[in-house]
Amino acid sequence: MDVLIIGAGVGGLTLGLLLHQAGIPCRIYEAAPEIKPLGVGINLLPHAMKELSALGLEPTLAVQGVLTAEAVFFNRFGQLIYQEPLGRAAGYDWPQISIHRADLQAALADAFIARVGADRLILGWQCTKVEDASDAATAHFRRVATQEALPPQRGAAIVACDGIHSTVRKQLYPEEGEPIYSGVNMWRGVTRWPRILSGAAMIRAGWFTHAKIVIYPIRNDIDAAGRQLVNWVVEIETPKYERWNWSRTAKLEDFIGPIADWHFDWLDVPEFLRRSEVVLEYPMVDKDPLPRWSFGRLTLLGDAAHPMYPRGSNGAGQAILDARALADCLAAAPGDAVAALDAYDARRREAAANVVRTNRITPPDAILGEVHRRTGDKPFASIDDVISRAELVAITDAYKRVAGYEKDKLRR
Ligand SMILES: Cc1cc2nc3c(=O)[nH]c(=O)nc-3n(C[C@H](O)[C@H](O)[C@H](O)COP(=O)(O)OP(=O)(O)OC[C@H]3O[C@@H](n4cnc5c(N)ncnc54)[C@H](O)[C@@H]3O)c2cc1C
Repeated sequence: MDVLIIGAGVGGLTLGLLLHQAGIPCRIYEAAPEIKPLGVGINLLPHAMKELSALGLEPTLAVQGVLTAEAVFFNRFGQLIYQEPLGRAAGYDWPQISIHRADLQAALADAFIARVGADRLILGWQCTKVEDASDAATAHFRRVATQEALPPQRGAAIVACDGIHSTVRKQLYPEEGEPIYSGVNMWRGVTRWPRILSGAAMIRAGWFTHAKIVIYPIRNDIDAAGRQLVNWVVEIETPKYERWNWSRTAKLEDFIGPIADWHFDWLDVPEFLRRSEVVLEYPMVDKDPLPRWSFGRLTLLGDAAHPMYPRGSNGAGQAILDARALADCLAAAPGDAVAALDAYDARRREAAANVVRTNRITPPDAILGEVHRRTGDKPFASIDDVISRAELVAITDAYKRVAGYEKDKLRR
């Protein structure tokens, strides 16, 4: 029997490709009637790229996205706090790639269709309920367009990769409720712009209490002038929580105020934001780690299992690590899906929970929070008077350990 995958996002499609590579038959059911270019930038760190490279996708992703070579941190006065190399520039065997979510999803979907078959990526089927029995798991569906019920599907296992508002997670944990709001709202967009700094930098500046911005390019040479498509996210402490989806548009006036005087020698930030092609709004939310992901022949993967704050560039990466672990566990226990799903739960649940918890307190941007605290949100004469380089390195190194991309460990 096939493994049934619910959701054709980054997690579901990667799992489909890995299962196929392991010789395990699968089908993916996606609620959306077509794979549309939704979202903006995503970062693929070396641990995620290790898995995608093993699937032969590195050349495609490297052409579509940008090989990110450095992380650069500034305070809200545009003063440099810390700079460190990333990806291959930092000596990893795999690159860090910043990419449009749509390009990543399209690359995965194209590979799945070419290798596994278009008939195994079933669009417009929304999962409404799942059932577990000793001999098989069953998924129930309706057609999104008409709401008509579709024939139930049986499989050896059902893997819910249906994102942060997962239907399956709601069924397994009916009392859980809405995602937990961090108190920070995010405005996101993309701007066509000449190279900023090296043209391969992931830039973070400011802090949530006033405003923080994250900027990184996601497509190279988009026009004759050699401009890039540059992803940005503005994050500001905002008490009110609204449950927007990933496509909710917003206005510049909603958030430009605190940034209006950010005219730095490396970027005129307000001008850059004014030129954005689109402004989307999304609250920074996550959910508490779960006591269990796998129930018999049912399990959770990716955002359905562990939605996290996007402060460590790790949402897609952790979904990809889940997919690798689950494919390995299924391959190691042929004919025993229940044992495989239990092994996957044991291997990944606590590791992912650790990333969720760390993203709340000390992801890499904790550097900015620490400098903000020590300077009382004032400009500094020299960063060395505020914090030592060793302390800064310790913050980012600790995160690499938790998220699973320490250089030597990854190589091993
Ligand atoms: C539209 C969209 C835009 C996003 N934009 C960004 C972004 O700009 N930046 C960023 O860092 N992260 C973004 N994300 C989140 C990021 O893609 C995820 O954190 C990460 O890739 C984890 O992937 P996932 O496969 O677990 O979940 P997702 O990528 O959320 O994929 C879940 C998939 O399941 C489908 N689905 C949901 N419910 C059902 C159902 N009942 N039956 C069948 N299918 C279902 C969804 O349509 C979706 O395709 C976005 C996610 C989505 C869905």
